[in-house]
Amino acid sequence: MKAEFTLKKMPVASGEPVQYFMDLGTDFLQVNNLIGREIHLEHTGYECLACGSDEPVYARGFCKKCFFEAPQAAPWFIHPEQSRAHLGEEDRDLAYEQRIQLAPHVVYLAKTSGIKVGVTRRANLPDRWIDQGADEALVVLETPNRYLAGITEVALKAHITDKTQWKGMLSARVAPDDLQAVWAGLRDFVPDETRLYIVSSTKVQRFTYPVQNYPPQFKAVKLDKDKRISGRLAGIKGQYLIFDDGRVFNVRNHEGYRVLLKV
Ligand SMILES: [Zn+2]
Repeated sequence: MKAEFTLKKMPVASGEPVQYFMDLGTDFLQVNNLIGREIHLEHTGYECLACGSDEPVYARGFCKKCFFEAPQAAPWFIHPEQSRAHLGEEDRDLAYEQRIQLAPHVVYLAKTSGIKVGVTRRANLPDRWIDQGADEALVVLETPNRYLAGITEVALKAHITDKTQWKGMLSARVAPDDLQAVWAGLRDFVPDETRLYIVSSTKVQRFTYPVQNYPPQFKAVKLDKDKRISGRLAGIKGQYLIFDDGRVFNVRNHEGYRVLLKV
Protein backbone atom coordinates (compact mmCIF):
# COMPACT_ATOMS: atom_id res chain seq x y z
CA MET A 1 0.00 0.00 0.00
CA LYS A 2 1.19 3.50 -0.82
CA ALA A 3 -0.57 6.83 -0.11
CA GLU A 4 0.41 10.48 0.00
CA PHE A 5 -1.67 12.66 2.31
CA THR A 6 -1.59 15.38 4.98
CA LEU A 7 -1.15 14.12 8.54
CA LYS A 8 -3.94 14.92 10.96
CA LYS A 9 -4.65 13.68 14.44
CA MET A 10 -5.70 10.04 14.09
CA PRO A 11 -9.47 9.59 14.39
CA VAL A 12 -10.26 6.99 17.07
CA ALA A 13 -13.10 4.66 17.98
CA SER A 14 -13.86 3.07 21.35
CA GLY A 15 -13.20 -0.63 21.60
CA GLU A 16 -11.15 -3.25 23.37
CA PRO A 17 -8.58 -2.19 22.36
CA VAL A 18 -9.13 1.34 21.03
CA GLN A 19 -9.27 1.55 17.21
CA TYR A 20 -7.09 4.04 15.33
CA PHE A 21 -7.48 5.37 11.80
CA MET A 22 -5.37 7.48 9.47
CA ASP A 23 -7.31 10.11 7.56
CA LEU A 24 -5.95 9.80 4.01
CA GLY A 25 -8.19 12.60 2.71
CA THR A 26 -10.23 10.30 0.46
CA ASP A 27 -10.29 7.20 2.66
CA PHE A 28 -9.49 5.95 6.15
CA LEU A 29 -6.73 3.47 6.90
CA GLN A 30 -7.14 1.14 9.91
CA VAL A 31 -3.85 1.65 11.70
CA ASN A 32 -4.42 -1.24 14.15
CA ASN A 33 -4.03 -3.57 11.15
CA LEU A 34 -0.48 -2.30 10.59
CA ILE A 35 0.77 -3.46 14.00
CA GLY A 36 3.52 -6.01 13.53
CA ARG A 37 4.28 -4.71 10.06
CA GLU A 38 7.05 -2.56 8.60
CA ILE A 39 5.93 0.98 7.75
CA HIS A 40 7.76 3.83 5.97
CA LEU A 41 6.96 7.52 6.31
CA GLU A 42 8.54 10.16 4.11
CA HIS A 43 8.10 13.91 4.50
CA THR A 44 7.07 15.48 1.18
CA GLY A 45 5.78 18.99 2.11
CA TYR A 46 3.15 20.87 4.09
CA GLU A 47 -0.54 21.76 3.96
CA CYS A 48 -1.83 24.25 6.55
CA LEU A 49 -4.93 22.84 8.29
CA ALA A 50 -6.69 26.22 8.05
CA CYS A 51 -5.79 27.77 4.66
CA GLY A 52 -4.23 24.83 2.81
CA SER A 53 -1.04 26.74 2.01
CA ASP A 54 2.19 24.77 1.48
CA GLU A 55 4.18 27.15 3.72
CA PRO A 56 6.02 25.29 6.50
CA VAL A 57 3.91 24.46 9.56
CA TYR A 58 4.59 27.05 12.27
CA ALA A 59 2.75 25.26 15.11
CA ARG A 60 -0.20 22.90 15.69
CA GLY A 61 -0.68 22.25 11.97
CA PHE A 62 -1.01 25.92 11.00
CA CYS A 63 1.18 28.16 8.84
CA LYS A 64 2.54 31.23 10.61
CA LYS A 65 -0.18 33.56 9.31
CA CYS A 66 -3.01 31.24 10.40
CA PHE A 67 -1.41 30.50 13.75
CA PHE A 68 -1.68 34.19 14.61
CA GLU A 69 -4.95 34.94 12.79
CA ALA A 70 -7.19 31.88 12.25
CA PRO A 71 -10.01 31.38 14.79
CA GLN A 72 -9.19 27.67 15.17
CA ALA A 73 -5.60 28.50 16.27
CA ALA A 74 -6.55 31.01 18.98
CA PRO A 75 -4.87 30.80 22.42
CA TRP A 76 -8.16 30.07 24.23
CA PHE A 77 -7.96 26.51 22.87
CA ILE A 78 -4.91 25.95 25.08
CA HIS A 79 -6.08 28.35 27.82
CA PRO A 80 -9.85 27.78 28.19
CA GLU A 81 -10.03 30.39 30.97
CA GLN A 82 -9.31 33.07 28.32
CA SER A 83 -12.64 32.32 26.62
CA ARG A 84 -14.79 35.44 26.14
CA ALA A 85 -17.71 34.35 23.96
CA HIS A 86 -20.01 34.09 27.02
CA LEU A 87 -19.55 37.88 27.37
CA GLY A 88 -20.27 38.41 23.68
CA GLU A 89 -16.67 39.55 23.17
CA GLU A 90 -14.87 38.61 19.97
CA ASP A 91 -11.33 37.29 19.91
CA ARG A 92 -10.86 36.35 16.23
CA ASP A 93 -14.33 35.32 15.00
CA LEU A 94 -17.25 35.61 17.41
CA ALA A 95 -19.61 33.25 15.55
CA TYR A 96 -16.95 30.52 15.59
CA GLU A 97 -16.08 31.20 19.22
CA GLN A 98 -19.74 31.05 20.27
CA ARG A 99 -20.18 27.72 18.51
CA ILE A 100 -17.21 26.11 20.29
CA GLN A 101 -17.01 27.94 23.61
CA LEU A 102 -20.73 28.00 24.41
CA ALA A 103 -21.15 24.24 23.91
CA PRO A 104 -21.33 22.02 27.03
CA HIS A 105 -17.88 21.33 28.49
CA VAL A 106 -16.50 18.96 31.10
CA VAL A 107 -13.70 19.11 33.63
CA TYR A 108 -12.14 15.66 34.04
CA LEU A 109 -9.40 13.78 35.82
CA ALA A 110 -7.39 11.40 33.68
CA LYS A 111 -4.74 8.86 34.52
CA THR A 112 -1.99 9.26 31.94
CA SER A 113 1.60 9.48 33.20
CA GLY A 114 0.11 10.43 36.55
CA ILE A 115 -3.23 11.99 37.35
CA LYS A 116 -4.02 15.21 35.53
CA VAL A 117 -6.91 17.61 35.27
CA GLY A 118 -8.25 18.68 31.89
CA VAL A 119 -11.06 20.45 30.05
CA THR A 120 -12.81 19.52 26.85
CA ARG A 121 -16.10 19.86 25.04
CA ARG A 122 -18.48 17.09 26.08
CA ALA A 123 -18.86 16.18 22.39
CA ASN A 124 -15.10 15.39 22.28
CA LEU A 125 -15.44 12.48 24.70
CA PRO A 126 -14.09 9.87 24.83
CA ASP A 127 -11.76 10.83 21.94
CA ARG A 128 -9.95 13.48 23.97
CA TRP A 129 -9.01 10.92 26.63
CA ILE A 130 -7.79 8.42 24.03
CA ASP A 131 -5.72 11.15 22.30
CA GLN A 132 -3.96 11.71 25.61
CA GLY A 133 -3.37 8.00 26.14
CA ALA A 134 -5.42 7.97 29.34
CA ASP A 135 -5.72 4.56 31.01
CA GLU A 136 -8.65 5.83 33.08
CA ALA A 137 -10.77 8.98 33.15
CA LEU A 138 -13.50 10.51 35.30
CA VAL A 139 -15.81 13.45 34.53
CA VAL A 140 -16.04 15.70 37.63
CA LEU A 141 -17.90 18.82 36.39
CA GLU A 142 -20.24 19.52 33.49
CA THR A 143 -20.42 23.22 32.64
CA PRO A 144 -22.48 25.15 30.09
CA ASN A 145 -19.44 26.83 28.55
CA ARG A 146 -15.65 26.70 28.15
CA TYR A 147 -14.91 29.64 30.43
CA LEU A 148 -16.46 28.03 33.53
CA ALA A 149 -14.61 24.77 32.89
CA GLY A 150 -11.42 26.77 32.33
CA ILE A 151 -11.52 28.70 35.61
CA THR A 152 -12.20 25.43 37.47
CA GLU A 153 -9.18 23.84 35.82
CA VAL A 154 -7.01 26.82 36.80
CA ALA A 155 -8.09 26.43 40.44
CA LEU A 156 -7.43 22.66 40.45
CA LYS A 157 -4.06 23.07 38.69
CA ALA A 158 -2.69 24.53 41.90
CA HIS A 159 -3.05 21.01 43.38
CA ILE A 160 -2.62 18.61 40.46
CA THR A 161 -0.83 18.74 37.10
CA ASP A 162 -2.52 19.56 33.79
CA LYS A 163 0.33 18.02 31.78
CA THR A 164 1.09 14.54 30.48
CA GLN A 165 4.69 13.29 30.55
CA TRP A 166 4.78 11.31 27.32
CA LYS A 167 7.40 8.78 28.41
CA GLY A 168 5.38 7.94 31.51
CA MET A 169 2.17 7.76 29.48
CA LEU A 170 3.79 5.30 27.05
CA SER A 171 5.13 2.97 29.74
CA ALA A 172 3.16 -0.18 30.42
CA ARG A 173 2.77 0.70 34.09
CA VAL A 174 -0.61 2.13 35.10
CA ALA A 175 -0.46 4.60 38.02
CA PRO A 176 -1.98 2.91 41.09
CA ASP A 177 -3.92 5.96 42.35
CA ASP A 178 -7.68 5.73 42.60
CA LEU A 179 -9.36 8.51 40.57
CA GLN A 180 -12.40 8.73 42.85
CA ALA A 181 -10.14 9.09 45.90
CA VAL A 182 -8.06 11.79 44.20
CA TRP A 183 -11.24 13.63 43.29
CA ALA A 184 -12.52 13.42 46.88
CA GLY A 185 -9.34 15.25 47.93
CA LEU A 186 -9.73 17.92 45.25
CA ARG A 187 -13.39 18.87 45.25
CA ASP A 188 -13.02 21.43 48.06
CA PHE A 189 -10.78 23.44 45.71
CA VAL A 190 -13.50 23.92 43.07
CA PRO A 191 -14.28 27.67 42.95
CA ASP A 192 -17.60 28.84 44.46
CA GLU A 193 -18.67 30.10 41.03
CA THR A 194 -18.66 26.60 39.53
CA ARG A 195 -19.52 24.31 42.46
CA LEU A 196 -23.08 23.85 41.21
CA TYR A 197 -21.69 22.07 38.12
CA ILE A 198 -20.03 19.26 40.08
CA VAL A 199 -21.35 15.95 38.77
CA SER A 200 -23.05 14.03 41.57
CA SER A 201 -22.40 10.47 40.44
CA THR A 202 -19.90 9.52 37.82
CA LYS A 203 -18.08 6.36 36.76
CA VAL A 204 -14.42 5.79 35.98
CA GLN A 205 -13.94 4.88 32.31
CA ARG A 206 -11.06 2.61 31.28
CA PHE A 207 -9.19 2.26 28.01
CA THR A 208 -6.90 -0.37 26.57
CA TYR A 209 -4.57 0.37 23.68
CA PRO A 210 -3.38 -1.78 20.81
CA VAL A 211 0.22 -2.34 21.89
CA GLN A 212 1.88 -5.69 21.12
CA ASN A 213 4.90 -4.99 23.29
CA TYR A 214 6.11 -1.93 25.18
CA PRO A 215 9.79 -1.21 24.47
CA PRO A 216 11.80 -0.54 27.68
CA GLN A 217 12.89 2.93 26.52
CA PHE A 218 11.53 5.56 24.19
CA LYS A 219 13.05 8.07 21.81
CA ALA A 220 10.89 10.58 19.93
CA VAL A 221 11.50 10.92 16.20
CA LYS A 222 10.46 13.90 14.09
CA LEU A 223 10.13 14.51 10.37
CA ASP A 224 11.96 17.86 10.72
CA LYS A 225 15.08 15.95 11.60
CA ASP A 226 14.63 12.69 9.69
CA LYS A 227 12.96 13.09 6.33
CA ARG A 228 12.28 9.32 6.30
CA ILE A 229 11.18 7.18 9.22
CA SER A 230 10.87 3.41 8.89
CA GLY A 231 10.30 0.62 11.36
CA ARG A 232 8.13 -2.20 12.60
CA LEU A 233 5.02 -0.90 14.35
CA ALA A 234 4.69 -2.37 17.85
CA GLY A 235 1.58 -0.44 18.87
CA ILE A 236 -0.34 2.80 19.27
CA LYS A 237 -1.15 4.76 22.39
CA GLY A 238 -2.44 8.31 22.68
CA GLN A 239 -1.47 9.82 19.32
CA TYR A 240 1.87 7.97 19.26
CA LEU A 241 2.99 5.31 16.83
CA ILE A 242 5.37 3.06 18.80
CA PHE A 243 8.10 1.25 16.86
CA ASP A 244 9.50 -2.00 18.25
CA ASP A 245 12.97 -0.49 18.79
CA GLY A 246 11.55 2.19 21.13
CA ARG A 247 11.34 5.05 18.64
CA VAL A 248 7.98 6.83 18.85
CA PHE A 249 6.28 9.18 16.40
CA ASN A 250 3.72 11.69 17.67
CA VAL A 251 1.18 12.00 14.86
CA ARG A 252 -0.50 15.01 16.43
CA ASN A 253 2.76 16.98 16.51
CA HIS A 254 3.01 16.46 12.74
CA GLU A 255 -0.40 17.79 11.75
CA GLY A 256 -0.12 19.66 8.47
CA TYR A 257 2.89 17.64 7.27
CA ARG A 258 2.47 16.00 3.86
CA VAL A 259 3.77 12.44 3.93
CA LEU A 260 4.14 9.45 1.70
CA LEU A 261 3.21 6.29 3.62
CA LYS A 262 4.35 2.90 2.35
CA VAL A 263 3.37 -0.37 4.00
ZN1 LIG B 1 -2.54 28.81 6.83
